Amino acid sequence: MPVRPGSPGSLRARNRWTVLQTVQSRRAVTRADIARRTGLSTTTVSGLVAELVAGGLLVESQEPDPTRTVAAVGRPAVTLALAPSAGSVLGIHLGHGSTRVLLTALDGTVLGERAAEFDVDHQPSRTLEAVATAAQVLVTQLGADAPDPLRAGVAVSAPVLATQVLGSPPMLLDWGGVDIAAGLGERLGVPVHLRNDASLGALAEWRLGAGQGVDDLVYVMLSEGVGAGLVVAGRLHDGATGAAGELGHVTVQPGGQVCRCGNRGCLETVVGARALVTALGHSRGPCTLGDLVALADAGDAGVRRLLADAGAAVGTALAGPCTLLDPRLVVVGGTLAETGDALVSEVRTALHRALPPVSNRDVRVVHARLGRRAEALGAALMAATAAGSHLARLAGARAV
Ligand SMILES: [Zn+2]
Repeated sequence: MPVRPGSPGSLRARNRWTVLQTVQSRRAVTRADIARRTGLSTTTVSGLVAELVAGGLLVESQEPDPTRTVAAVGRPAVTLALAPSAGSVLGIHLGHGSTRVLLTALDGTVLGERAAEFDVDHQPSRTLEAVATAAQVLVTQLGADAPDPLRAGVAVSAPVLATQVLGSPPMLLDWGGVDIAAGLGERLGVPVHLRNDASLGALAEWRLGAGQGVDDLVYVMLSEGVGAGLVVAGRLHDGATGAAGELGHVTVQPGGQVCRCGNRGCLETVVGARALVTALGHSRGPCTLGDLVALADAGDAGVRRLLADAGAAVGTALAGPCTLLDPRLVVVGGTLAETGDALVSEVRTALHRALPPVSNRDVRVVHARLGRRAEALGAALMAATAAGSHLARLAGARAV
């Protein structure tokens, strides 16, 4: 509903859009927070929120505010979220050995999820077919509760430039020359955006997880692959060619195992899932990453040792990036971070030992909060940002 510029309707529409954007950012989820962040009066905010709730664009909840780290005293405030009817997006993660597809509201609220394990590296066609089918199942399940997704974001376990996987050999092994955006866009019928998975994990933890409120952080993803995502001065940093954060391919053992990138002795050959389950297999027989996590949960002494050594290697490798970037926070995520504190505490100890005295000794090392969903959630947030003009139209304002 376009409105005439300068009219009272235009101002109100613009304020409705401001409220929707503020809720979408998750930096403010109560009426009082919105008033504080936007400079609008509490009376104005209450009126705008009432219109948006009545219009089915915002939903209210008595759930505790997920963005607060300290429990508030007294009755929990009513929190606000974007309604599924305000629009949805797909967030897709293509890992080396697994896929995950999320359908989310435009503020990252998860509406549906499907995950599968198989050899993504060697099966581009099967992978694209599988995630497209999973996306269609999720959309069908949600039915009339939400309109069809506006866009899709894809988190790829490789450096990405525009629509394709980089690297020679490509870091998703058989994906050289595969146009993921075109292949998935055709199957899904929506625009598709690509980015490196660790970068998108960083985005999700920064916006919704352990990194909220911190504008300089390093996110480390320890899963089938090993990577890092960088938030520098409040912006996601991809580097000049989209290859920033390839921590897994820093040499830590010259002359060590041959890595899929073509080098030898990369960090990933020491602490990647394949390296860890191979090391474990010598005494426990063939096992998977899931078996390793289960053994860690059960307190297996050999697995604790393995994880402690892996944590030490990661912490030492992080000293260089942390010396250069001076982050406030290191967030450790990925499947291996689900194994309790054995790994993360060693990352912390080794990093602090390896940092030069001149650097920030107060850098904190914490567990990620979003678990295996982080990369797919970051992909959904990227897609939601790209769909920004949609909220403006719903609010009746012109996108500028
Ligand atoms: Zn490598």
